[in-house]
Amino acid sequence: LLTVEGVWKNYHHHSVLRGIDLEVAPHEVVCLIGASGSGKSTLLRCVNLLETIDDGAIYLDGSDITEVRTDPDDVRRRIGMVFQSYNLFPHMTVLDNVTLAPRKVHKTRPDQAEAEARELLARFGLADKADEYPDRLSGGQQQRVAIVRSLATQPRLLLLDEVTSALDPTLVTEVLAVIRELKDAGMTMIIATHEMGFARDIADTVCFLEGGVLLEHGSPEQIFTTPAHPRTRGFLQRVL
Ligand code: ATP
Ligand code: MG
Repeated sequence: LLTVEGVWKNYHHHSVLRGIDLEVAPHEVVCLIGASGSGKSTLLRCVNLLETIDDGAIYLDGSDITEVRTDPDDVRRRIGMVFQSYNLFPHMTVLDNVTLAPRKVHKTRPDQAEAEARELLARFGLADKADEYPDRLSGGQQQRVAIVRSLATQPRLLLLDEVTSALDPTLVTEVLAVIRELKDAGMTMIIATHEMGFARDIADTVCFLEGGVLLEHGSPEQIFTTPAHPRTRGFLQRVL
């Protein structure tokens, strides 16, 4: 579904991604782990074309999305992204937040967009919040709304960047449950996370990044119990 091929990203004279190769199959859940500054967010931002890459290519369903002729809006319609800070529009109700992209970008009829949004909200236990403003919701609820919003355009792939790290520990569980449900529904996802327990639990493939290099990838079992690379071992010893 997604192929990342030899991707380099430089800021000024500093390379933060150094030749990343990554293959994501349909329905696969890939977790990116690694120390702060290792390049996890940058990689996700490159996949979503929020950053331009300096070398390499990224293919979505076989077509190169990093070539100059690509329409970034078209790519972002097919790739949803959710950030640590939920980025909901504070002056819009939950329902309007969720229906905005379908109405504006997809030109979905307003009544149809609303019906679909209400259905999605109901699926994630947010039916009664549709007409609230974001500041009346808990952090966990806001993050669930942000996830629902990213699903409203029916993306092929979902990118999640530290979606639980701004949350009170008691609220983390409900957001993780949503991600679990998405996995069970077959959503393809790339998840940057500092929560090793979660990565171990949900990932099909775990990728360890260090200094912009994808040092090692494998099943959670393999990465967490028998990491091949000494630097992966060192990292896991520090965080586990
Ligand atoms: P964290 O776990 O803290 O979220 P990360 O793995 O997501 O870290 P990135 O945010 O991808 O790391 O950052 C990788 C490197 O790129 C860091 O050294 C960071 O300082 C640098 N960087 C990120 N964004 C920019 C930018 N806009 N300009 C310059 N340098 C940047
Ligand atoms: Mg990050």
